[in-house]
Amino acid sequence: MQERETLIVPIFDDVVPIADVWPVDARWPIFRAEQLLTRFRANFPDLHYDIFWNTRLMNAQAFIGPLGRCVRLHGGLARHRSIGIEGLAFALAHETGHHVGGPPYHPSYLSLISSEERANEWAAKCGLPLLFGEKVGSRYALRGLRQLARLSEFYSIKFPIV
Ligand SMILES: [Zn+2]
Repeated sequence: MQERETLIVPIFDDVVPIADVWPVDARWPIFRAEQLLTRFRANFPDLHYDIFWNTRLMNAQAFIGPLGRCVRLHGGLARHRSIGIEGLAFALAHETGHHVGGPPYHPSYLSLISSEERANEWAAKCGLPLLFGEKVGSRYALRGLRQLARLSEFYSIKFPIV
């Protein structure tokens, strides 16, 4: 029953200026995102990963929809010029961690969604090393989190949430 609820766990919620993202039809950003999703899908076949490309919403989400547990990557994050593969990999691992990280759980939802802290911890200690190996995984964890934190700071100052 609870699996039918729709849950959304955003990391950011900003629409970024058009100058800050690669164009919708630029090939390598979509190629990079698809490559990452292929790797996540292969390792977590019970989760559904998709991309909402033609948007400048800077976000990734973990939610439970009609298909079950889903992770969605938005164009404003995937196409952002300041985000490297490390930041994208971290964001996807973080959202995956909301689904598979286990306790402690997010206090705001009825279904079992791991807390923000647990999702980050799972991404850094379990998800990224599993997906990319210990060495690359720990580098992605460090640099990826930094990239995301920098963007988060930048936009929260430039575009205060009202
Ligand atoms: Zn989260």
